Amino acid sequence: MPASRPRNSDSVDSTHPSHNPVHRAGPSTRVLLVIDDPFDEVTIRRFLSEWRADAFETRSTDRVEEAVLLLKDDDFDVVLLDVAGHATDGLTILQRARATEKSVPVVVMTSATEDDSLEYTCLRLGAQDHLLKEEVTPHLLSRSLRHAVERHRLLRDLSVARQREQYLATHDALTGLINRASLQDHLRRSLDDANLNGRKLAVLFIDLDGFKAVNDNLGHAVGDTVLTGVATRLSRSLRSTDVVARLGGDEFVVTIENADDSFALATILENIRGELAKPFELDGTECWITASIGVALFPRDGCDPEPLIRSADTAMYHAKAQGPNQYEFYEDAMDAHGGDRFQLVNDLHEAIDRDELVLFYQPQVDVGLRQIIGAEALVRWRHPNRGLISPGDFIRLAEETGMIMPIGEWVLRAACEDVVRWKLDPHSSFRVGVNVSGRQISQHGFSQEVACILAETGLSPGRLEVEITETSVLEANETTLATLSNLRRLGVNIAMDDFGTGYSSLARLRELELDRLKIDQSFIRGTGSLGPDRVIVGGLVGLARGLGITTIGEGVESREQLESLYTQGCHQMQGYLFGKPVSSADFAEMLSCDEMPWEADIDATGID
Ligand code: C2E
Ligand code: MG
Ligand code: MG
Repeated sequence: MPASRPRNSDSVDSTHPSHNPVHRAGPSTRVLLVIDDPFDEVTIRRFLSEWRADAFETRSTDRVEEAVLLLKDDDFDVVLLDVAGHATDGLTILQRARATEKSVPVVVMTSATEDDSLEYTCLRLGAQDHLLKEEVTPHLLSRSLRHAVERHRLLRDLSVARQREQYLATHDALTGLINRASLQDHLRRSLDDANLNGRKLAVLFIDLDGFKAVNDNLGHAVGDTVLTGVATRLSRSLRSTDVVARLGGDEFVVTIENADDSFALATILENIRGELAKPFELDGTECWITASIGVALFPRDGCDPEPLIRSADTAMYHAKAQGPNQYEFYEDAMDAHGGDRFQLVNDLHEAIDRDELVLFYQPQVDVGLRQIIGAEALVRWRHPNRGLISPGDFIRLAEETGMIMPIGEWVLRAACEDVVRWKLDPHSSFRVGVNVSGRQISQHGFSQEVACILAETGLSPGRLEVEITETSVLEANETTLATLSNLRRLGVNIAMDDFGTGYSSLARLRELELDRLKIDQSFIRGTGSLGPDRVIVGGLVGLARGLGITTIGEGVESREQLESLYTQGCHQMQGYLFGKPVSSADFAEMLSCDEMPWEADIDATGID
């Protein structure tokens, strides 16, 4: 490049599209030329067009302020900056070019007469390349500019990839909420802060109720919509200082700073429940989602992130046990009463191998026939430290963790083995009722599992009755219905348990071809008197009879209940009046007794 001529005061802008449209064959590189010598500027433009016509689209300025504005408002691929003669201003441009959001690469030109240190300063400030004016040729210039653009693009892609990686490591990809790892970091900082300022902090563990049914019945895409919807609603119900994270699945954690004010905390809890209570529009239908919430407080319930989250989880578990849409504050007693979910889950994994599960049997009686016609198998867990744990305290946990599958299989096999061991009269119609969770029957292969167990234990299919709940039928997917029909084909009986406690669908009752309806004990309790329960039970019995389904009353404790049920046409009963659940050996003994204590109760009512 020839040496500079005397400077010309005006900037040359002849190639800007708006002034002098440039014909472009393909995407050209947009170059901002910041050169104060008009002669140099013209030379550079000529070099660029010489190298390849239309490869570069240029805009020029000789004023630093204008260059800064152009960088801000316009999209350039690269800046060619002549720092010779006005180094300080030039460096300003260099800094601005890097600082803009678009971050444009800069190639600097210096003169051979200048100090070497200027070149290094420019490179240190982020210049992509350096050219000596005296050595510039069309080829060298175009290569330097193109390489600068390419290098810059690669660096930008790398930085975007790094940012994405960083984002994914700290966020949940589906909802965009922070994940467990960042929650811990956030909580650690917030706890330090709360500790320093002597303030309380609340951790809310939120678990959606019945979310599995949404996923199973409406598909995972709809499930994902619910989760993102819940994430948005949770974020909406919080203050700017509160943080919400997704731990995975349908579990969310909210941290609430400055939770000293219990009224404010209660308001936030109500806000959350209010937001979640609004219906979701899914697949064209409205769907309601509720959540169980556990609350733990710093410093009362823990001082570190992990114990606090655990306590909130334990409280959530207790809330869930109360039914859907409840919240509970953590109490130490929750752990003492077997609420320590984590420990319990660990122990539950071992329970089968350590032979800690045991089945009890409760007799089922036909009052008219004065005969034991069957038994319900009820599982218990002999925990090494906690003693006998009733199913109410661990079945839900087993369902949530998937442990219900091996437990359910164990129960089924053990019940079949016990009944075979009792050596029943082959002509009797005795059946054993086995409770089966919705999760088991919605699983492929359950009917095959039952068939195998029957074959292996030698129990006749007609001796087995599978007890399903209304909820599991309500949530039934195609697999569930196919499983039930396969079981029927095998000759296994099907009973609906706790009837009347869920949302019963009469249409479903017919479709399911049930053998028995077990009327829930909550209705039986009131049947002794002339109350609404008596009317309901009478109605249920009539309805079932119309559909050809036998009824059995659960939880019969008194003679009045016995008599009332009987007179309303429900002749089969189960309850403490006839016997509490007992061990397999005790039940076998009961079967061999000629006279039953409850016969006196039947006599006393005057039933023939
Ligand atoms: P369920 O199937 O409705 O069983 C009847 C429950 O009522 C049993 O409680 C039984 O002991 C109790 N009960 C029976 N008669 C009376 C009475 O006269 N008065 C009162 N107050 N209660 C009575 P349990 O054994 O605690 O079982 C509770 C629930 O746990 C069962 O309700 C069932 O849903 C579930 N469960 C039990 N064993 C299993 C199992 O092996 N698998 C599954 N999935 N669930 C099970
Ligand atoms: Mg049952
Ligand atoms: Mg029941």
